[in-house]
Parts: sequence; structure tokens; C-alpha cells
Amino acid sequence: CGIVGYVGPRQTSNRPLEVVMEGLRRLEYRGYDSAGVALVTGEGGGLVTAKKAGKLVNLIEELEAHPLPAATVAIGHTRWATHGAPNDVNAHPHVAGPIALIHNGIVENFASLKAELVAAGVEFVSETDTEVAAHLLARAYVEHGNLAVAMCAVARRLKGTFTLLAVHADAPHVVVGARHDSPLVVGIGEGENFLGSDVAAFIAHTREALELGQDQVVTITPEAVTVTDFDGVPAEARRFTVDWDAAA
Ligand code: GLU
Repeated sequence: CGIVGYVGPRQTSNRPLEVVMEGLRRLEYRGYDSAGVALVTGEGGGLVTAKKAGKLVNLIEELEAHPLPAATVAIGHTRWATHGAPNDVNAHPHVAGPIALIHNGIVENFASLKAELVAAGVEFVSETDTEVAAHLLARAYVEHGNLAVAMCAVARRLKGTFTLLAVHADAPHVVVGARHDSPLVVGIGEGENFLGSDVAAFIAHTREALELGQDQVVTITPEAVTVTDFDGVPAEARRFTVDWDAAA
């Protein structure tokens, strides 16, 4: 029910994780039943995730018991279960090979997509509608070799409502997002950028924002924000400054 993304410079502190956990805390008011994060841990690093059913404190305790390494990229999710019980396995992120993906919304055509993927030999571990998007993205990435292009291909196949964010183990400076009938906002920082389902996700760090339009895909790196439509054609998102009242 809440989504946060962060990309920043290489650093030894775990600012990416701190930013994402703070964002999830600020999105708690929306309600949720599970929470999780994924980090990409730098040059040649790879992907790590942690996720827990229940309140954020459960995830915080998990992170204290099993600390994650410093990262350059992080995504975080609070889930309001629609398909599959609220348990650790069904919590997001969902991992498919080198990709981790989080989702707010409902993939209405997940049953037919799942049947197609199962027939192709994909093994599912969760009961969620979301997991189809993770596997589709991993397969599209193999085909296209580019996370944004792969996200466009997946977005064109999904029916329903979605805000999606994804990271790739080999891309320590990129978060890609997509939206259809579900909100996604970019926070513009200096040498770092943010994504949120709501400006509350990054209001502690920047008030310069871009509101993604319907059916757009966004790529953030520490220095750039790139927006396209689902066909990969460059598109414009609305720039605005968050007013102070919204920070409460
Ligand atoms: N439909 C997805 C699930 O049940 C996402 C729910 C949400 O928006 O948090 O896992």
C-alpha cells in the first residue's frame, strides 16, 4: 500500500536503507499488513532483501538481527494484501533471478499470465498476483538487456492497477518504476533521487517533485530522471514543489 525508492552515490553508511525505512514509516498511515525492502549493494554486489508480515517493527527487528550491507539503491514496500495471505513469503519484494520488484495494486490478468509462465517452466513461491510481474520482468530483461525497456514490455502486458518499482542486481545506480491507475511521484534531490507512492515518502529529503502521468515508466539514477510512455517514447511528467503544509 506504500512504495518508496532511492538511488544515491556510493557510500559506506546505509543511507539508502534509512531513507526507505523512514519513507515507509511516513506511509504507515495508509494501512498495511506486511513490509519489505530490497537493496542493490554496489559494484558487482548483488541483491539482498528482507521482508516480514505485520508491523514495520517486525521488519526493523529482522534488519537488526540480520543487518544488510551498504547499498546504493533501495526500494521498500508496505503491503495491503489482495491476493494471498499476509505472511512473510507473500510480502514484497518479489524476486525473480537478479530482479526484485514491488507492487501496489492488483494484476487482474495474473491467472492467465501465471499459467503461461508455469507452462514455460517458471516456479512460483508466493500466492500473490504480483509475482507474475517479477517473472515477466526477469524474462523481458533477458530479452532486452535494459531494465526500463523491460519494464515497458511488462507494463503493456498487465491489466488492472499498478505502481511497480524494480531493481536489478547488476544495476547499482538505477530504480525503474511504472504506473497505471495508481500513483507514483519522483522526488528530485542533489546527487540522489527518490520515488514514492506519495510525496510523504521523501518529504524529509526534498520538496522538488515530478508527478508521473498515467501509463508512464520512469528511470531514476543519482543524476537523472527519465520518463517515457509504455512504448518507450520520451514523455513529460508534471513538475511541482511540495508545499510546506503537506509535510505534517
Ligand atoms: N496485490 C498485491 C498483493 O496482494 C499488492 C497489494 C498492495 O497494493 O499492497 O500482494
